[in-house]
Amino acid sequence: MLKVIGFTLCCLFFTVSKAEHHWGYLHHNGPNLWCNIANKTCCGNAQSPIDIKGSIKQVSGRPVHFQGYTKKYDWTVQNNGHSIQIRINNTGELPTILGGPLKSNYTFSNVHFHFPSEHKLFSKLYDGEIHMVHFKTSAGNLDNALKLDDGIAVVGFLIKIQPGGHFLDRFMENILGGVLSKDATTMDYKDAVLQHLALVPRMTDKCYYSYHGSLTTPNCNEDVTWLFHRHPVFISKKTIDDLKAYIRTTDDNRDISLFPNNRPVLPQNGRLIQAFNCKLTAVY
Ligand SMILES: [Zn+2]
Repeated sequence: MLKVIGFTLCCLFFTVSKAEHHWGYLHHNGPNLWCNIANKTCCGNAQSPIDIKGSIKQVSGRPVHFQGYTKKYDWTVQNNGHSIQIRINNTGELPTILGGPLKSNYTFSNVHFHFPSEHKLFSKLYDGEIHMVHFKTSAGNLDNALKLDDGIAVVGFLIKIQPGGHFLDRFMENILGGVLSKDATTMDYKDAVLQHLALVPRMTDKCYYSYHGSLTTPNCNEDVTWLFHRHPVFISKKTIDDLKAYIRTTDDNRDISLFPNNRPVLPQNGRLIQAFNCKLTAVY
């Protein structure tokens, strides 16, 4: 039995969004076909993910500042058929990031997960990846920001399997306990999720990489400043096995696992990769 620990669950309900399912991660609708079946931008020259390696410019200082991430918010967790996505329901002031390579404030939009990882770090693929998507605050919302060259900032974390109970295990147990096992199921709860993602404030002065790329899903908009932390977040193998088994979606009316949901790496095409506060090149 999967246990629900910590969070108060309420308001389980279902929605259906089949129209979003023309692209996916399978042979007939996978990443190689996205530029034909979803959006031409997916064949662009500044696509993500990439293998973070090669000529990397070292930069010291310039931490990213995270503001408002320890407050309690009302959250909706959704299996949107492509990922598990977590959004804040509250209106009003939302968490923001500033600093590093960012020239202005970016407002939190959502957190979602990929298993296994999308980016590679020095040619190594990890067990998963967290994306915290932010839009340029002055744009007002995500849709407006997507039209700007510098409209989006994504904070990325790699996930690595390691024995033991980690915050990400507890977090995923809640999602699994919320029966997020059907297509486009949503679940609401109140908690300080980003407090559980307390790795964020802890990592503000640690090593991260930055480059200009794209969303890793259609429409593949090339307007993303990536802020990619080198230190991975840990998860147990059991949790990943449970996610693969219980988080489901549909494809041509077939019931399939939501995972894998990772786009393979794409060429750097000479793009500048900056390393902020990184002293070593060792891979974790
Ligand atoms: Zn993503």
